[in-house]
Amino acid sequence: MLIEHINRRLLELDAAALRRRLRTAESPCAPLQSFEGELGGAPLLAFCSNDYLGLAAHPALAEAMAEGARRWGTGSGASHLVSGHMRPHAQVEALVERWFAPHIPNARALLMGSGYEANLALMTALGDGSATLFCDKLNHASLIDGARLADAEVKRYAHGALDVLERQLAACATPVKLIVTDAVFSMDGDIADLPALLKLAEAHDAWLILDDAHGLGVLGASGHGSLEHFKLRSERLISMGTLGKAAGVSGAFVAAHPAVIEWLVQRARSFIYTTAMSPAVAHTVLASLALIESAEGRERRAHLQGLIGQLRTGLQALVDQKPGWTLGESCTGIQPLIVGDNETALKLSAALRQRGIYVPAMRPPTVPVGTARLRITLSAAHTAGQVQRLLDALAQALEETR
Ligand code: PMP
Repeated sequence: MLIEHINRRLLELDAAALRRRLRTAESPCAPLQSFEGELGGAPLLAFCSNDYLGLAAHPALAEAMAEGARRWGTGSGASHLVSGHMRPHAQVEALVERWFAPHIPNARALLMGSGYEANLALMTALGDGSATLFCDKLNHASLIDGARLADAEVKRYAHGALDVLERQLAACATPVKLIVTDAVFSMDGDIADLPALLKLAEAHDAWLILDDAHGLGVLGASGHGSLEHFKLRSERLISMGTLGKAAGVSGAFVAAHPAVIEWLVQRARSFIYTTAMSPAVAHTVLASLALIESAEGRERRAHLQGLIGQLRTGLQALVDQKPGWTLGESCTGIQPLIVGDNETALKLSAALRQRGIYVPAMRPPTVPVGTARLRITLSAAHTAGQVQRLLDALAQALEETR
């Protein structure tokens, strides 16, 4: 019965062009990536990773990983509260605390295994029965899942609709109010109006939880992320950053008021009941964060910004010729080309693949129905020539979909 049931559901996904396929990469990510069984294993020019600074295959970080494993071992062997919290974890936390000191008074940090885990931790530990969570409707799935798991009341506001949020805050009767938002939205690349959100938080005795998965490393002169970009400072800020995107490794952290961090340690089940990050990985994260704020990190961010400008100019010219297609308002490494229906997005993605370029089609439920898109992501590992190759291929694919 189970298998028949699953097969029926899978056929429904096929019929709606929503079936996804797990593909196995045979090489490191950006800019060139080859996949098992595709094009005879020939490398595709890939615009799909979140390796925004091109650090995921950086030789210095590979060296740090090897050194970390030799020195600390490959595994932590236990959860943080038992014996898995090792010196490299504490060193990363100390560095993150330094990064956030200008933005959050007395900032403390807590390292976790992934952004998904960190968001569940925040939502469930802070979102108890005394709290209301105010969530942007386009928040990342991990924040949505965390809100579902929390005991708190949950209010959702339309993307960026701060007038709606303000009314919700004014009408809220719970003692704890938490505004929850992606800092850079993962499917659109736009940046939340964090200064306005913080003002609302201050006016309504609320706190602002921001998910900076796509801002960390990319935004701010030193790559410290959205808070550096907007030069914000408040004890009401709670920032989650991921380490598997621009930082090129894996894991995540929360930076916040010391009491918030202490409460996560005591109560966040997704932090407590999981094995601590490998110390070799933590050691590598330390090297990665140092690289992000170094002169090399700055150069990589500047190169990325140049590519973003080049891509947007070219995409805008394409979109102007194609009614119904739109280019999202984004100045980050995420550049969405929104085409509407699932089939068109898939066709475009396939047409690019034939030309040796990989850009995934994003469809519901990852994005709202009717907004299927190519989610193009840029990395400092790309060259201007490669971005031009993508634009040329898109122009040809556009001719084919007329
Ligand atoms: N938040 C956002 C906005 C994300 O895009 C992602 C990853 N796609 C996550 C959280 C989860 O982070 P991680 O991959 O480290 O679990």
